[in-house]
Amino acid sequence: MSASEQGGPGGAGPRSRRLNEAARRLFPGGVSSPVRAFKSVGGEPPVVRSARGPWLFDVDGHRYVDLIGAWGPMILGHGHPAVVAAVTRRVRRSVATGTPSPDEPRLAAKIVKAVPSVERLRFVCSGTEACMSALRLARAATGRDVVVKFEGCYHGHGDAFLSSAGSGALTFDAPDSPGVPPAVVGATVTVPYNDLAAVERAFATHAGRIAAVFVEPIVGNMGFVEPEPGFLPGLRRACDAHGALLVFDEVMTGFRVHRGGAQALYGVRPDLTTLGKVIGGGFPVGAYGGRSDLMAMVAPEGKVYQAGTLAGQPVGMTAGLTTLREVLAPGVFERAAAATEALASGLERALRTAGVEAVAPRRGAMMGLWFSARAPRNLAEAKATRADRFRAFHRAMLTAGVYLPPSPFEAWFVSTTHDDAVVRHVVDAAAAWARTGPA
Ligand SMILES: *Cc1c(COP(=O)(O)O)cnc(C)c1O
Repeated sequence: MSASEQGGPGGAGPRSRRLNEAARRLFPGGVSSPVRAFKSVGGEPPVVRSARGPWLFDVDGHRYVDLIGAWGPMILGHGHPAVVAAVTRRVRRSVATGTPSPDEPRLAAKIVKAVPSVERLRFVCSGTEACMSALRLARAATGRDVVVKFEGCYHGHGDAFLSSAGSGALTFDAPDSPGVPPAVVGATVTVPYNDLAAVERAFATHAGRIAAVFVEPIVGNMGFVEPEPGFLPGLRRACDAHGALLVFDEVMTGFRVHRGGAQALYGVRPDLTTLGKVIGGGFPVGAYGGRSDLMAMVAPEGKVYQAGTLAGQPVGMTAGLTTLREVLAPGVFERAAAATEALASGLERALRTAGVEAVAPRRGAMMGLWFSARAPRNLAEAKATRADRFRAFHRAMLTAGVYLPPSPFEAWFVSTTHDDAVVRHVVDAAAAWARTGPA
């Protein structure tokens, strides 16, 4: 790799900076989605022109190892030949027709076969839409209005989920964003992750009113946080005892932590599941699904209204179908998981050897890195890790040609194309920083 191909000094070179300046005039924060803006690590994002395999190439001629993977979808790396060929063929046939198309039931059948609790489903265009729709269905199915969720979990930007905890499980939430009416989150209760007692208190306080418990079965949105043994089975039991639905938000974990998602990994069967990211292979595809009797309530079979002009968009269906075919083929998921294991254990070793406290929890092809002695179990513990250290680390890694999520509270995504040499490049860069960088 020549010097000009390495990462830029702390990120954006002159061309990226020019484009970012124009973007800041046109878009709030210069971006189409907030975390891309580098607000929590400082500096400016390189503007990415193209991507191939595990690499991102920016407009200034730098290349980076990609550990964002488009925030989850690109488990096969960028430009996978089978996906590119299938999508190209599909585009030549038609882009969108607003009619049923052939790959729609094929992709759905693959999902139903792989994800244990999903018997039927509905395609939508994003994870946000999937979660909003699943909540509507859960409320309709139970005839109740309250939703319980967990601090640090993200279920898209639907109003009902944009709240922060009132006082524990006892009161309803307050809006977390201007523009969300208090009434809309007045039926949302947020409790700490991995805290079954808080869930029980919520059920006791709001007896007969809780429609659903929404959970990321492994959290990727406060950094990578795993459920403690017993947490997910405990949620299942609590929901059953109180007549509420259990909803696994597997938008991030689906086909990422295990072929059948976190529910297959932990053997817990939710009533409804939301999906996105990997199932669209990089196109805007989401889905919600689950028990047949529940899905039968969705229009036009049932009365719960939900629709989408571009839902089941043919190009996204083909991209998703081809991606899942590859991911589910023998040995492929294992390759991404092995690369993740090598990267996570390599980073732990490199950082600790240099005396930097670090832990890199991982499952399947998803991982995190915490500058702390042990992995956090909830948002409070996540916030107590060394975020300042992550900022310095992020900048050094970008300069060394490694594109990490620009926040300590985001998961990392590895692909089948992250081979030994790529993993070594990342681990060596971390080791070099650990020897000289951390204050
Ligand atoms: C990404 C994500 C969403 C939102 O999906 P979008 O496609 O960004 O709307 C919802 N839930 C989880 C767990 C996610 O990771």
